Amino acid sequence: MQTPTELIELQRLIDEGGTHLAARVLCEVDAAAAAGGQRLPVIAVTLGNPAPDIPAVGFFGGVHGLERIGSAVVMAHLRSLVMRLRWDESLHRQLDGVRMVFMPVVNPGGIARGTRANPQGVDLMRNAPIEAQDRVPFLLGGQRLSASLPWYRGPAGAPMQPESAALCRVVEDELLTRPFSLAVDCHSGFGLRDRLWFPYAHTRAPMAHLAEMDALHGIFQQSHPNNRYVFEPQSRQYLAHGDLWDHLYQRASALPQRLLLPLTLEMGSWLWVKKNPRQLFSRHGIFNPLIAHRQQRVLRQHMALLDFLARAAASWRRWLPTPDARERHGQLALQRWYGAAAPP
Ligand SMILES: [Zn+2]
Repeated sequence: MQTPTELIELQRLIDEGGTHLAARVLCEVDAAAAAGGQRLPVIAVTLGNPAPDIPAVGFFGGVHGLERIGSAVVMAHLRSLVMRLRWDESLHRQLDGVRMVFMPVVNPGGIARGTRANPQGVDLMRNAPIEAQDRVPFLLGGQRLSASLPWYRGPAGAPMQPESAALCRVVEDELLTRPFSLAVDCHSGFGLRDRLWFPYAHTRAPMAHLAEMDALHGIFQQSHPNNRYVFEPQSRQYLAHGDLWDHLYQRASALPQRLLLPLTLEMGSWLWVKKNPRQLFSRHGIFNPLIAHRQQRVLRQHMALLDFLARAAASWRRWLPTPDARERHGQLALQRWYGAAAPP
């Protein structure tokens, strides 16, 4: 089995970044289901101010091995930063005020094998210890019937898979040690629209920090008024067991003075399929743009979002709602996303 090109590219970026960034191998996974074969590293890259009172932003991709465009988007952003570090004074100033964490290839075994799941057949995004509180769609919401069916959660009571555990460790070490952090996890899936999902996935109840999420949505709409993202709680689409970001958001919320606002970018792949229907006949093509100019356009489109999130994290104290404004944000968000009645 060949080393995925994503890992080769990531190593190249780490080398080019030199002393401006730090990289660490969180774990190694077997590329094949059986042990004893090729081992692939799960890598995290950090840059920016490491002080614990500084906010942080995390960029994640490649959780699902088939969705290589998610890895590509995160890697394109990292590449742009590495190149700008050589000359862009404003970027260096920005990095004094924010910690950045990159994990573009969370599931290298899945990427190498061309599967959504990891080599053990586990869907990492169904693998966290969290149960849906309502009925989930059959299979899609996560299942424990068999590793040979999609959306397998892993055995009941077992520890998390090494890749999911590595992601959680990075979030706990680099994001939850700080007063405020944002995260975006880049995926692609069926659908015509690009979606930005926030918790929860395991329940239709609103998250405790709905007001803060509404404020983030507000500054994004104001500064990028022509964006085409559908911003919504994942529960508006479907409920699922084992969502890593529900789990991590709850971990953060249990800690005093810690706030994590995680987003999942779900790029709508039907856009690419519609323009190039032959893609339907390729498993890889359902989840990724196959034509070079379309891939470039997708990468370009999402750069503004990733850059926005870094700026929003750095400036969190300027836009997070005050205690007075929380009530209004919360009411508006309940109306917009949860069908609640308008406030009097
Ligand atoms: Zn995915």
